[in-house]
Amino acid sequence: MKFKKNDVVTVEIQDMGHDGEGIGKAEGYTLFIKDAVIGDLVEAKVMKAGKNYGYARLLKVLRPSKDRAEPPCPCARACGGCQLQALSYEKQLEFKEKKVRGNLERIGGFSDFVIEKVIGMEEPWRYRNKAQYPVGKDKDGKIITGFYAGRTHSIIPNRDCLLGAEVNEEILNRVLAYMEENHTEPYDESTGKGLVRHILIRYGFKTGEIMVCLIINGRKLPGAEKLTAALREIPGMTGISLNVNTKRNNVILGEEVIPLWGQEYITDYIGDVKYQISPLSFYQVNPVQTEKLYETALEYAGLTGKETVWDLYCGIGTISLFLAKKAKKVYGVEIVPPAIEDARKNAAINGIENAEFYVGRAEDVLPEKYEKDGIFADVIVVDPPRKGCDEAVIQTMLKMRPEKIVYVSCDPATLARDLKKLCEEVYEVKRVAVCDMFPQSVHVETVALLTRNVV
Ligand code: SAH
Repeated sequence: MKFKKNDVVTVEIQDMGHDGEGIGKAEGYTLFIKDAVIGDLVEAKVMKAGKNYGYARLLKVLRPSKDRAEPPCPCARACGGCQLQALSYEKQLEFKEKKVRGNLERIGGFSDFVIEKVIGMEEPWRYRNKAQYPVGKDKDGKIITGFYAGRTHSIIPNRDCLLGAEVNEEILNRVLAYMEENHTEPYDESTGKGLVRHILIRYGFKTGEIMVCLIINGRKLPGAEKLTAALREIPGMTGISLNVNTKRNNVILGEEVIPLWGQEYITDYIGDVKYQISPLSFYQVNPVQTEKLYETALEYAGLTGKETVWDLYCGIGTISLFLAKKAKKVYGVEIVPPAIEDARKNAAINGIENAEFYVGRAEDVLPEKYEKDGIFADVIVVDPPRKGCDEAVIQTMLKMRPEKIVYVSCDPATLARDLKKLCEEVYEVKRVAVCDMFPQSVHVETVALLTRNVV
């Protein structure tokens, strides 16, 4: 161990880790330093020193990297949401490409693949259509809202997150003013007392429709009509509701929604497909990039109108309906029952009749349908959560042997793990694209096309 806690060191940052932290060496000893970017020369204080590497806190940038950007958000360093704001956008995209490539090489064991495109945003700000603001009190007892500091539950006050819609600030101002006037208590995690836990806002980028949902520790909001009156003045306001969550845990949303005013859903479009989105449904948060992501998936699927397609982990059927227009038949599978209700409704409002949906775990539904009904697919699209596909899904796909598998992934590590299994004998990686759905953060979305190389 070269250093001990509280030592101050000078470090040149040579690399960046998966979570966006700078990595450099001081006298040959590796240190991880949050908020330092590649190319910086920094002064840092050692916080934790292990045998082979340690963690240090950035004290001062002695010589900024040429790729350093001035974070436009005053909360960038304290807030847990954006890990890459101090890096130029161009370099952020390079970082993400490298992250995907590194995972495919190291975990997947692939070497001869090309990442054919990295789809970035022209304007990598204000792209989120959904925001969930926790509500609490500061040490003077004033009601605050903002975002959690990294890895904690203390709230950094901020009503104008630069990733969210501009209208969020006005909504938050009105909700907090209502709470002050009515002496409505924010929820306190440590005691389980108080009422208002979170404010959820959804905004339809193409329609301008807005939904506000207050997540409360109870079933009644005293003086709710005053809140709805204040919020209704905001142009675009479409629906106001309550969500009941009386559990003492970290999960944001409860199961019950109580409408207060207006519609229970907002409408938005991806391409020319129309979607109804209710407070509880999963919906991609970056609509501009989602369209590009789905177009890439559609291009990779190479549909001619004759294909049978399975869309596993389909959510509210967004990809399924996007593909249905170009396929003979699409089957979607999703674990959350209300999402499937939305998917069916969305198919109907778009007049799409060749999409069918099943509720259940992909790892149960697919093997069962295959064993019992001998189902067939020309193309299988998967878009699993971060943990990737269950082994049973991989094995059933290998038995079904569709001509193509389009893998949409939000975690390059599990993507690499799964592709390795699929490409042992039957498939090969044909095309890979990286899509930046979450600018300023370290998260990255990947689309990979696998084609069958044996009959
Ligand atoms: N393709 C959709 C949703 C992708 S997110 C879209 O683009 O909008 C992943 C989805 O997988 C979520 O809707 C989640 O509820 C669902 N899911 C998680 N585990 C699952 C499982 N074991 N089987 C089926 N669906 C699952």
